[in-house]
Amino acid sequence: MNADIITDTTYPHSTVDGFEKGCTTGHCPAEVSCKTVFTRFNGDYAFRRQINAGMTPAEIVAAERKQAQEAADTDLRAKKAKGSQRSAETRDAARERHNAARRAKRAANLIPQKALIPRDKLAALLGEGLTDRQIGERLGFTRRQVAGARNTAKLPRNPDSNRRPAPATTGASS
Ligand SMILES: [Zn+2]
Repeated sequence: MNADIITDTTYPHSTVDGFEKGCTTGHCPAEVSCKTVFTRFNGDYAFRRQINAGMTPAEIVAAERKQAQEAADTDLRAKKAKGSQRSAETRDAARERHNAARRAKRAANLIPQKALIPRDKLAALLGEGLTDRQIGERLGFTRRQVAGARNTAKLPRNPDSNRRPAPATTGASS
C-alpha cells in the first residue's frame, strides 16, 4: 500500500472508508485497523450497529474487552464459589469423621467397667435409706465415689439431711 496512507494524518484510518481507499493491510496505524473495521462491519451485525450508532471502533473494542473481562470475572467468581462449596463439603466430611471417632470413643467408654460397688449391693443399701455419704462411710468410699457408682447404676439417690436438698430432678412442680 501507499506509504502516504500510513503517514497522512488526515487519512480516515479505522474506518470502512479507509479500507476501501486502500488501507487494507495490518500496517494501519490506528488502534483498530481499517482492515479489521471493514471485516467486522461486513460480518458482525452488532459491530455495524454500534458504528452506525456513532461509536468509534476503538470504543467498541474497549467495551468488548471490558465485557469479556467482566464475564471472566463472573466465571471466576462462580468457580470460586463452587470451590468454597467443595471445601465446605470437605470440612463437613472432616467434622463427620471427627464426630464418628468421638461416638466410637464414647461407646467404648460405655462398655461396662467393673463396678466399684456391685449394683445389687448398692441398691440394697439405698433401699435401707442410706445416703451416698453413709454408704461411703460403711464401705470405705468417698461420697463422690458412691455417687459415681450410683449414677453409673442409674439408681436414685436418697436425700442427705446434712446437705441442702438438691433441686428436684423428677419434675414435681413442672
Ligand atoms: Zn487504516
